[in-house]
Amino acid sequence: MHVGFAIAAALAGSVAMVAIRAPHGHRSLKVKVATSRKGRLEKVLLTFAWAGFLVPILWAITPLFRFADYPLHPVPYAIGVMCMAVGLWLFHGSHVDLGTNWSVTLELRENHRLITGGLYRFVRHPMYAALGLYSVGQVFVLPNWVAGPSYLVSLGTLFLFRVGAEERMMREQFGKDYEEYAARTKRLIPGIW
Ligand code: SAH
Repeated sequence: MHVGFAIAAALAGSVAMVAIRAPHGHRSLKVKVATSRKGRLEKVLLTFAWAGFLVPILWAITPLFRFADYPLHPVPYAIGVMCMAVGLWLFHGSHVDLGTNWSVTLELRENHRLITGGLYRFVRHPMYAALGLYSVGQVFVLPNWVAGPSYLVSLGTLFLFRVGAEERMMREQFGKDYEEYAARTKRLIPGIW
């Protein structure tokens, strides 16, 4: 299968990701931050995640990572495109559900509400699940040992360090409401984990 299909999927996925987030990022600029826990570790992890997001784009538009290419096959490609598409759909849905409570980092906004409906009814971190699924899709779609797993590795690292701190912050802010919410939901995969 021609590598052009993988390049097209990498670029289309990245554009879709940015397009889905842009209006929410823009709107969040107008909502005051009440509490920020953006420490040094969080800044490093966010930069790492951004780098992981950019590598597939660099792979697609420059010869930088071409040394690590391998042949593209239709079955993993189809599986990957499906994972990316479902990931993008969940990414959009979780942004809609979170609304003005969303932040790119560990922050609580003014008048922050605890969201437990929509996708948040099924798991506590649908946005991370969405990004995880998208990045697993990239592993299948991009026939390159560096660009394929780059976003999964950088996001996985961010997730590993952030989720505990994020849940602590939510617990401190919402107390019993968050305890009850956490008792009836899993983190990433409904009913499993
Ligand atoms: N971890 C969530 C949200 C990611 S955005 C997910 O994967 O879907 C990160 C910010 O969302 C956090 O800083 C926190 O302020 C906010 N947040 C996380 N869970 C929330 C919830 N259930 N209700 C409202 N805000 C939430």
